[in-house]
Amino acid sequence: MQTKKQITLIGAGLAGSLLAIFLARRGFQVTVYERQPDMRHHEIPAGRSINLALAQRGIRPLKEAGVFEQVSRLLIPMRGRMLHDEHGHTTLTPYGRRPTEVIHSISRPGLNRLLMDAAEAAGARFLFQQRCIDMDFENSKLTFSDQAGEQYSIKARTVIATDGGGSALRQAMVQRLGVKVVEDILPHGYKELTIPAATGGRHRMEREALHIWPRGGYMLIALPNLDGSFTVTLFLPMEGDASFAALDTPAAVLAFFEKNFADALKLLPVLASEFFAHPTGLMGTVHCQRWHVKGGVLLLGDAAHAIVPFHGQGMNCAFEDCLILDQCLDKHGDDWERLFSEFEIQRRPDTEAIAEMALENYVEMRDSVRDPRFQLQKKLGFLLEEHHPGLFVPRYSMVMFHHLPYSEVRRRGAIQQAILDRLTLSAVRVEDVDLKLADELIASQLGGVRIGA
Ligand SMILES: Cc1cc2nc3c(=O)[nH]c(=O)nc-3n(C[C@H](O)[C@H](O)[C@H](O)COP(=O)(O)OP(=O)(O)OC[C@H]3O[C@@H](n4cnc5c(N)ncnc54)[C@H](O)[C@@H]3O)c2cc1C
Repeated sequence: MQTKKQITLIGAGLAGSLLAIFLARRGFQVTVYERQPDMRHHEIPAGRSINLALAQRGIRPLKEAGVFEQVSRLLIPMRGRMLHDEHGHTTLTPYGRRPTEVIHSISRPGLNRLLMDAAEAAGARFLFQQRCIDMDFENSKLTFSDQAGEQYSIKARTVIATDGGGSALRQAMVQRLGVKVVEDILPHGYKELTIPAATGGRHRMEREALHIWPRGGYMLIALPNLDGSFTVTLFLPMEGDASFAALDTPAAVLAFFEKNFADALKLLPVLASEFFAHPTGLMGTVHCQRWHVKGGVLLLGDAAHAIVPFHGQGMNCAFEDCLILDQCLDKHGDDWERLFSEFEIQRRPDTEAIAEMALENYVEMRDSVRDPRFQLQKKLGFLLEEHHPGLFVPRYSMVMFHHLPYSEVRRRGAIQQAILDRLTLSAVRVEDVDLKLADELIASQLGGVRIGA
């Protein structure tokens, strides 16, 4: 019997663990090296992106990997954005038109553990506290540092780097092969805080919503957890008047929250201590000139194309990467050179598109959502979708509830935005909009091509 090929994955995060399932199920001998201790037996450091929004793009790969039924037990549907204004008034803006058009809050460690278990059950092997520090691409030699800080090397002919935004493999490609990388770090950082559960494990705010406190230059958001708590994230400039640098004492933090997020402050009993105990995270977009080295190494997920988190798509996109790589395996077998190259050709335009849309969504979340014209266009978008199903689909819906490639979403989204701008030039209410003109514009500009779910 022919022995199946060995594949080495670096990083047992979300992408690495899901990819391990896909590859192990095909019979490859998969070994995953992870720098952290096994999170199934160790505490995760507080304040590191505890929950995430899972959308359709991420759900499909989980279904294909045969794990969605288990994952579904971890989900809380979020039906829309609950906007909290400066006076504590709240308004729910639905994400979609149909009851099924929701996104889901999920615990990162909960999901990651489940994926690791499933990968092990499929035959993958995980080695923890093994930090990859370098690769000699000529000789297919990977170097690690183990738990005791001892260095050792292994021979690995097929390596897939799923080691996240700060990828060691990507750095080795830069240093040893001169690959060009631009890491666009946002001048805004983030800090995670907690709204604890009320007695009996009840949620202290609407459970099935993503809460947002948009304040122009910055914002607070909160996603629900199964235990009744919310994970709250403050997004704020690093420097300047309203900034992390300015919030340097407990009194300054409390005054800032009192002024900007008074209703949230009442629900954050240990704000000041959490604020100084939890790290301030950085966010950025990674543009890497090349994702693969012949048939030997491929970057995937955040390692190849980290994006800012404002569209809630980094994990969803990384999961889509795993499915597309699996589909490339169907097409090209394990001709890795061809496969890695095809993967990059197919995926790059889409990851560039979502990187751009994620940056745009930061402005939408922290600022535009408060603008009456934006709200009018949102309403109108839903109405046009009702009149032209599958033809006019709001861009947010195309990203979150459909599987259309991101680059196509961006292209159609730009046409639709121009239509919305034209239709709302002098309109104040949806009733003021010339719907006959809307029909004409949609028919002539969206080319009659309908998109499926
Ligand atoms: C604040 C915030 C909120 C977010 N919210 C969302 C959201 O709502 N929805 C969404 O879809 N995405 C979201 N994201 C993005 C999402 O977290 C990432 O896109 C996703 O985790 C990428 O998965 P990955 O496996 O590529 O990388 P990671 O999940 O970062 O996994 C990388 C793994 O590699 C390991 N590793 C790193 N270096 C080495 C090394 N040298 N050797 C061995 N192992 C190594 C790490 O320990 C880790 O386990 C958010 C991100 C942030 C920062």
